[in-house]
Amino acid sequence: MAGQPLKYYIDLLESGELVAFPTETVYGLGARADNPTAVKKIFDLKGRPTDNPLIVHVSNRAMVSAFARNIPESAKVLMDKFWPGPLTLIFKKKDQVLDLITAGMDTVAIRMPDHDTALSLIDGAGPLVAPSANKSGRPSPTLPQHVRTDFGESLPVIEDQPTRIGIESTVLDLTEEPYCILRPGAVTLEQIQEVIDHPVVLTRDKKRLGEEETRSPGMKYTHYAPRASVRWLSKTETDIMPTCLYLIHSGHHPLLEENTDKNTPPSIINYNQDYDQLARELYDRFRQADQQGFKQIAIEAFSEKTLESRQITVALKNRILKAIGK
Ligand code: AMP
Ligand code: MG
Repeated sequence: MAGQPLKYYIDLLESGELVAFPTETVYGLGARADNPTAVKKIFDLKGRPTDNPLIVHVSNRAMVSAFARNIPESAKVLMDKFWPGPLTLIFKKKDQVLDLITAGMDTVAIRMPDHDTALSLIDGAGPLVAPSANKSGRPSPTLPQHVRTDFGESLPVIEDQPTRIGIESTVLDLTEEPYCILRPGAVTLEQIQEVIDHPVVLTRDKKRLGEEETRSPGMKYTHYAPRASVRWLSKTETDIMPTCLYLIHSGHHPLLEENTDKNTPPSIINYNQDYDQLARELYDRFRQADQQGFKQIAIEAFSEKTLESRQITVALKNRILKAIGK
């Protein structure tokens, strides 16, 4: 299936088939947004609950008007600044948008991926709905191999490099006041707030229990989880368990100090404050840990300071908490 010209995949999508394709965040499982049978196949193949809505992927701004009832001024500013890119915007939907896409809600999620292949595919096939191309509950795919592990060889996959960002897009709801980040991602609250005056909050800051689940149904499901159990690594832990993979990011941890470069076991990975690299590799580490038989993955907890800086750390913490099961 690999190495076909793009037209081959466009034709498959036009005939109602699913195609997995690369984006800058993770690999997506695409179907034409105007074909209910194809959209239904996504839920069936992934084992995705039908109350978890899908993101519409577009390749130009004109496509947005077919789905969004109105486009607020601040959305235009955000699109100018962050599209193409890892920012999904939620709008009130037009009546003709398929209920299956929006899980029956009156809103629709839209983004423009920052990836040439994805954009060309959408140019050719029209807007695509595309959740991450993994079985529901598994870590999102950041390599073509991950897609094949979950779905086998029969699913058409457009092969590309490992994805550049490695975790899913920021989801920003523009339909209620204040605007709300339903899922943190590579575009941070600080970056959004820099370009619009409109107040923006993270869902967790609203401290209204259950709010996140009602407004972004997908966030209530177990996600991103390896089979190994995931836990936070405390700052004082010094005993190395042979069946545990250690992911350290601050660059300063007793486990590193006790093991000089030469004798650091391969089960201790040091990201040395490169949070972007940790994001790129997190899901692959999860999948590899399972293959290598690790029973636990211990990830260094994030300091408040790193969470306040303009980094991907808030999104990383969110995904790790989901993998821990919280
Ligand atoms: P995935 O496709 O796996 O990246 O998941 C898509 C995410 O976007 C899920 O968390 C969905 O709940 C969320 N989402 C999609 N459409 C909407 C919408 N209309 N309102 C709120 N959240 C949405
Ligand atoms: Mg997903």
